[in-house]
Amino acid sequence: VIILGIESSCDDTSAAIIKDGVLISNVVANQSVHESYGGVVPELASRAHQQNIVPVVHEAMKRANVTKEMISAVAFTRGPGLMGSLLVGVSFAKGFARSLNIPLIDVNHLTGHVLAHFLKEPDEILQQPKFPFLCLLVSGGNSQIILVESYSDMTVLGQTIDDAAGEAIDKCSKVMGLGYPGGPIIDRLARNGNPKAFKFNKPNIPDFDYSFSGLKTSFLYSLRSWIKDDPNFIENNKNDLAASLEATVVDILMDKLRKAAKKHNIKEIAVAGGVSANNGLRNSFREHAQKYGWNIYIPKFSYTTDNAAMIAINGYFKYLDNDFCSISLPAYSRVVL
Ligand code: ATP
Ligand code: FE
Repeated sequence: VIILGIESSCDDTSAAIIKDGVLISNVVANQSVHESYGGVVPELASRAHQQNIVPVVHEAMKRANVTKEMISAVAFTRGPGLMGSLLVGVSFAKGFARSLNIPLIDVNHLTGHVLAHFLKEPDEILQQPKFPFLCLLVSGGNSQIILVESYSDMTVLGQTIDDAAGEAIDKCSKVMGLGYPGGPIIDRLARNGNPKAFKFNKPNIPDFDYSFSGLKTSFLYSLRSWIKDDPNFIENNKNDLAASLEATVVDILMDKLRKAAKKHNIKEIAVAGGVSANNGLRNSFREHAQKYGWNIYIPKFSYTTDNAAMIAINGYFKYLDNDFCSISLPAYSRVVL
């Protein structure tokens, strides 16, 4: 079985080939056009997807040594994401599948992030999470704790009621005048900073839900008052600010995850999404494994941010379930799991 996966939900155009459950190729074209705007510009993103999609799919097939006649089905990201961006991948996938008369598989971008844990490369021995496990999904658009009972059975136990973790980090980094996206920059600066240097507000909300908008405001107001006394405050405290911000986000995330693990009596704990690239978060996972006996699953860096490999593996599992979709299925900018 050969699955072509297509991902175009935000600002990365990506295509991947999975053969019998093994990842053979994964090509990602990043869009640099957004950097000077400090955020993704939707109209520019969809135009760049249009330019990238054909060469990216070609390259994925070439690297996998696969011709279009060999492909069994096309899996595509249906949503959530930017509508204009999604439409490029969705339309391409439909046209491609129709012309070859092969089945189409719709994939939820978020279940894709979770199932990235089941990606296997040739000759790789992999520790995969055992069902049921908890997955902390932290990305640019989402922060959720998900109970994963099978490849297709996922329940959101808690989620952000406002900003996502990645979004909050990106916005704070923007306030500090750093580049976009801020996540990797904050991560780098934080390594040389003191995580206890500054304190920022932590939310107090019930159950397993998150909130990050208060932290963002607390960060902004604190900075403003410090800059009043010292105009060079940011420059002089960059590393400590980054480390303290990162530590606060990690604390918020782990507090609720710990609670959920205890309540559901689960020790299989995974993390996914772009923010799972963060070293502070990864370290905290390792500490929790030690302290609470968790079996932890941390994805390879290349499978944390958006990629088509995770869409292809999700598509592969749906293929085995004969779970196909109609060509008339629309893209969705918002979908639940
Ligand atoms: P969603 O998956 O919710 O639709 P998205 O696809 O835009 O959102 P991802 O690509 O999964 O999100 O993740 C992007 C986010 O990850 C950005 O907010 C980025 O700053 C953050 N990020 C990437 N690397 C790091 C890092 N090392 N530390 C912290 N955050 C990071
Ligand atoms: Fe994503």
